[in-house]
Amino acid sequence: MSLGSGLAKGLAITLRTMTRRAVTAQYPEAQPELPPRSRGVIALFEENCTVCMLCARECPDWCIYIDSHKETLPAVGPGGRERSRNVLDRFAIDFSLCMYCGICVEVCPFDALFWSPEFEYATTDIRELTHERDTLREWMWTVPEPPPLDPAGVEPKEIAAARKAAEKAAAEQATDTGEGAG
Ligand code: SF4
Ligand code: SF4
Repeated sequence: MSLGSGLAKGLAITLRTMTRRAVTAQYPEAQPELPPRSRGVIALFEENCTVCMLCARECPDWCIYIDSHKETLPAVGPGGRERSRNVLDRFAIDFSLCMYCGICVEVCPFDALFWSPEFEYATTDIRELTHERDTLREWMWTVPEPPPLDPAGVEPKEIAAARKAAEKAAAEQATDTGEGAG
């Protein structure tokens, strides 16, 4: 191929490409439209965490750091026994090691870990990629709501139990009101 025809071909490709719509976006001016379940960052709902350590044990990268201590609670009534519970002191995830596999979110038996699509936490200091519990808790505000339940699906047992309890309480209240009126 001669230089002239090569140049013409190159220019033709350039002209053709210039008239096409760009498939890229000018981030950060244009924010990407991510699927709601994107794996951006992991959020901690620490009120649900029982410090069972399952997530830390199952994490293939060993990048979840949890510290806790035991607290003894007094017996609730006479003859009862004291109870002990774990109190969370530290919960951190090192996102410089995390491979975003999602195992921790999947294995948590108490729904304390969630995926957030938020991804704008790049930093020039690798130490800042270890997010402590306060930061992980803040990410909860960016977790999307779960999709609505399938109306044709079986009623979840938690909702069924709550509905029965509410119906029972309403029936008892109605009986009490009826007796009071009579
Ligand atoms: S997503 Fe995977 S690698 Fe990251 S903290 Fe969870 S279990 Fe560990
Ligand atoms: S698996 Fe869930 S409840 Fe257990 S320590 Fe991890 S976040 Fe907390």
